[in-house]
Amino acid sequence: MPLKFGTSKAIAIAFGVLTVSSIGGMFTMIILFKAQTQNITMTPPPTPSPTTLAPPPNMRLPKSLVPQKYEISLAVHLYTKIIEEGNGSNPNITTPNQTMIFTGNSTVHFQCAQRTMSIFLNSRNLNVSSPVVLNENTKRNIKVSGLQHYDDESDFLKIELMDALEAEGNYSLFLSFHGEVSDNLEALYLSRYTDGDKRIFIAATNLQPTDARKVFPCFDEPDMKAVFKLTIFHRRETIALGNAAPYERNIIDDEWQRTTFRETPKMSTYLFAFTVVDDSFKFVTSPESNTDRVEINTYARPEAIDAGHTDYARDIARKLLRFYESQFEMKYSMGKIDQLALPDLYPAAMENWGLITYQEGFLLYQEGVSSLLHKEDIATVIAHELAHQWFGNEVTMKWWNDLWLNEGIATYLSYSAVDSVEPTFNIVSPDALASSHPLSPPSKAINTTDDILGMFDSISYSKGAIVLRMLANHVGEVVFNKGLQNQYRGHKAVRNTDDIAGFMNPWITQSGYPVITINTTNGQVYQKQFLFNNTAIHKEAFITKNGEWILANIDCTGYYRVNYNPENWERLLAQLQTNRHSIPLLNRGQLIDDAFNLARAKLVNVTLALNSTLFLTNETTFLPWESAVRNLEYFILMFDRSEVYGPMQVSLLAIKLACSNGLPECVEMAKQKYAAWMESNNTNSIHPNLRSEIYCQAVAAGEKEEWEFAWDMYQTSSDTSEKEQLRRALSCTKKIWLLSRYLDYTLDPEKIRLMDVASTIYYIAQNSAGQALAWNFIRANWDYVSQGDGAMLIAGVTSRFSTEFELEELMRFQDYDLGGATRAVALAIEQTQVNIQWVKENKDDVLQWFEQKTSSVRQKEY
Ligand SMILES: [Zn+2]
Repeated sequence: MPLKFGTSKAIAIAFGVLTVSSIGGMFTMIILFKAQTQNITMTPPPTPSPTTLAPPPNMRLPKSLVPQKYEISLAVHLYTKIIEEGNGSNPNITTPNQTMIFTGNSTVHFQCAQRTMSIFLNSRNLNVSSPVVLNENTKRNIKVSGLQHYDDESDFLKIELMDALEAEGNYSLFLSFHGEVSDNLEALYLSRYTDGDKRIFIAATNLQPTDARKVFPCFDEPDMKAVFKLTIFHRRETIALGNAAPYERNIIDDEWQRTTFRETPKMSTYLFAFTVVDDSFKFVTSPESNTDRVEINTYARPEAIDAGHTDYARDIARKLLRFYESQFEMKYSMGKIDQLALPDLYPAAMENWGLITYQEGFLLYQEGVSSLLHKEDIATVIAHELAHQWFGNEVTMKWWNDLWLNEGIATYLSYSAVDSVEPTFNIVSPDALASSHPLSPPSKAINTTDDILGMFDSISYSKGAIVLRMLANHVGEVVFNKGLQNQYRGHKAVRNTDDIAGFMNPWITQSGYPVITINTTNGQVYQKQFLFNNTAIHKEAFITKNGEWILANIDCTGYYRVNYNPENWERLLAQLQTNRHSIPLLNRGQLIDDAFNLARAKLVNVTLALNSTLFLTNETTFLPWESAVRNLEYFILMFDRSEVYGPMQVSLLAIKLACSNGLPECVEMAKQKYAAWMESNNTNSIHPNLRSEIYCQAVAAGEKEEWEFAWDMYQTSSDTSEKEQLRRALSCTKKIWLLSRYLDYTLDPEKIRLMDVASTIYYIAQNSAGQALAWNFIRANWDYVSQGDGAMLIAGVTSRFSTEFELEELMRFQDYDLGGATRAVALAIEQTQVNIQWVKENKDDVLQWFEQKTSSVRQKEY
């Protein structure tokens, strides 16, 4: 899946604290995928006991059985179309009565690797019955003596046998089961929308990481791959889509039909997918040349198809697929790709093999209404999901602790792919400036579903991509691509893996990132691990004289920060002021970012960091601005509820209002344009690329009328990009009561879809007027709001906590049932402690700097 909100930057900061990372090694990437299909290590069967308080020693399935193939039949009883008659306040819902049940049976064929008397699978929220175990070699049944569901986090379903399964024997297990389609975006779930007087329902799956077990009993671990053969029974007026192409469609009777799909390649359970959509859904087919063998169809609601909103996704998907096939020198192996735009899905997209699902906002593009930035987002998300078809789907991390391999590679590749097929975007990996995080915890530390969910944070995506970018730079692009190809084929890497391991190990096995310190007066260079030891690495000719300066890590290809002696810092900052173009763009951003982070680590004075932003009033490129805004926002929110409110706020405003360059006139402009739109009877003449900023500024500066206009437009607009911008703008108001009302709306799925709840609250929390409100709100409504992504919410809402009071509240919050957010809360506590300390130490210096700078601004103005 891609990053959950599409934009990672803001969230990445939330994990500023470095914790201990552990085993790994870059060359694991190269050999890992080979290992998963061979050498399946035997682990003893788990021994959980409901009578002891301690958790079972092992939540992982025993590897005594190796699944080969599932044959699954599922009947989805849902009706996709329900027509309401009568007037709005008293609708008369006509037949049929909706039904959420699904029923099914499965036969899993497996090989026995180690003699055992019991079969362990995963199953959750399913009513399972009628087990039949067959010895496929002798064709004799083996009697079952018990079927037990573990009532703990293991989700184990244990089938006890009268006779042992023998090593190397081939067996099968048949099970019947039924369950319910969920209403909270997980497992097999309901997505819905209205079309005039019709309510349309869609059944869709989203199984990463551990929800396949809620659809059918299975060996639900990523390395226990198998072939899937699926049959879906569904209503006559619906279409069923699966991972593989349909093989046969039969009408059964007046109500039912059956779709049987071809067998998939061997794949992980979390990639299993199917959907049942209304037969009014349409699709467009990507252009094909003689050499294309893969059919790509893009499905969406009929209005979106008719209006051409799928055209961009249709065309770019083909270009991206061709790019990857030539880049990897390896054909896509499933034969077809469906891209499906769903009204409800969380996260933004999911790479199910052959059936990629997207939130509508990440697939549908409307020329002239959507912004260019939105077009880039769509291209990047599609490129990410298509990269997964190789890295993630075909080759997969062995266990979830190495999720960064899947996500880091897909993230890294998506940038080079988009750069290749859309060169005019000039796409730069925004993650090049992100903060550091641990990558790969030991596999034993990741056991339960909650642990696994905790891995889906920005760490796995951003740092993974950065580390890979660094490796590519170290070994060269050509060798790196060869390495990826070889990894893909399971061959040895072209380069000696020891070299690569030697180079990469420190970046993965040690926490955080190093700081290189260059002293231009005595020529010394130190490498200091961010948290630990401090060693001089060599002395060389880094001595400068006569005002010369040194800049290290050109274009930021290395994953480390650079510190200099004060004289060199001063010269660099002077250079930024007088001739910034002599310093590469990425480094301009990096200098600010380094300065602020080094100041936080007490390695440089905080005023140096603040001074590093002064050149920005001349800067017209977005990137350094971004770093400055990000860092300054941190400052502001550290202080804004305390004694330094005034000058800080002024400074943030100056930067935010820039529209890219710091002019307060921007607010006036925004107000006027927005007012014109309000009065125009729905003719919006604001340029698509400016809408996001203008809406936000106008709502922030406006009253109830501006907010309600945005809300009306949000509710009535059918354009996903426009809706996204409005949903964000609504969080910009400074009126507490409006923010409070907006928060309440998130509890009503008719107003804010469940998939949008976490990001809406996140936006509100980014508004300094809304942070405390949002924090109170998520605690009061935790059960509901954490359904989407509790960890993301916590990271976003608490990222600027910096008081003892907030720390205490966070501590108390640990008593809640936090689920997948447990790790995020622990990180938030750590971060808050660091922030409190930092504020204590730097408050006076910062206050002084701002008073000085703002007084000089005032003098100029008057
Ligand atoms: Zn992904």
